[in-house]
Amino acid sequence: MTVRYRDGIEVTLSTGERVVCDADEPDGDVNVVSHAHGDHLYERAPGAVVWSPLTRELAAVRRDELPATATDDRLTLVDAGHVPGARAVVIEDPDGTTYCYTGDLSTRDHRYLGGFEPPEAEVDTLVIESTYGEPEYVFPPPAEAAAAFREWVRETDTPVLVFAYSLGRAQEVQLILGETDRQVYVTEAVAALNDPIVDAFDLAFDVARYGGDVTLDSGDALVLPSQTNRLSFVETLVEETGAQKAALSGWAVDSSFRFAGGYDATFPLSDHCDFEELLAVVDAVDPERVYTCHGSTDSLAREVRSRLGYEARALKRNQTSLGEF
Ligand SMILES: [Zn+2]
Repeated sequence: MTVRYRDGIEVTLSTGERVVCDADEPDGDVNVVSHAHGDHLYERAPGAVVWSPLTRELAAVRRDELPATATDDRLTLVDAGHVPGARAVVIEDPDGTTYCYTGDLSTRDHRYLGGFEPPEAEVDTLVIESTYGEPEYVFPPPAEAAAAFREWVRETDTPVLVFAYSLGRAQEVQLILGETDRQVYVTEAVAALNDPIVDAFDLAFDVARYGGDVTLDSGDALVLPSQTNRLSFVETLVEETGAQKAALSGWAVDSSFRFAGGYDATFPLSDHCDFEELLAVVDAVDPERVYTCHGSTDSLAREVRSRLGYEARALKRNQTSLGEF
């Protein structure tokens, strides 16, 4: 009957069994993977995992080892909205306590992805992500950010390099670029993730594979995983083709994001709840107590307490004696 942050988020049931969520080396009696982003996906595979079928397929792209899919009557997966395949988990302890661990979360509908909706079950303990858990992180409507990006692409008369997380953000970027007259290229890493998403949502991406044989010209757009921005081939590409660089991320609400990444333009399109949406989730779930994890945990816990009046605390990694509030 405790919640801890050790390797992943760990819920110990009244039976003594441990439910371990999003660990690097999952070792629970039950293991959960909320979605296939690298910081939530195992490094060492356990025997079996509770996850969505699509997350399993995406994990197969990213990891050599692939666990079997487990089910457990006490666990229910609900859409988390965040990226394709992402699920929150509701855990019903036999003693009557109900937990909800959100993983990463978005309540907004994004094209083919519906947003998170609070579970119907009454939740006693909510464990909520805090990526944008500070009051200044408030995003414009996604359609507005997408329109500004589309407009920038249309007005730019050079090749464009577009940086986005390869799972989730990159697929939405491809759909937006499909509404311009650019020829869109993707790298192998993005293309491999596209395949299961295309099948799961009946989508079509009108894109070509980028390789050494392609020379970018002013009618082209290349979608790149965000972490490649610091690699030397990007600098070379910019020098050789005069390409402009854009990035799409929630961090773009802070102007230092553009400066730090050396981008020509940035757009605040995110796969996460912004600050106000995180508070709205807490309010809608209406739990007895709130734990915050992953990101601005102290800030979000403080704001949940002061603005909403819930008991809330930040989960600290390897803190041994949490006790009750
Ligand atoms: Zn994520």
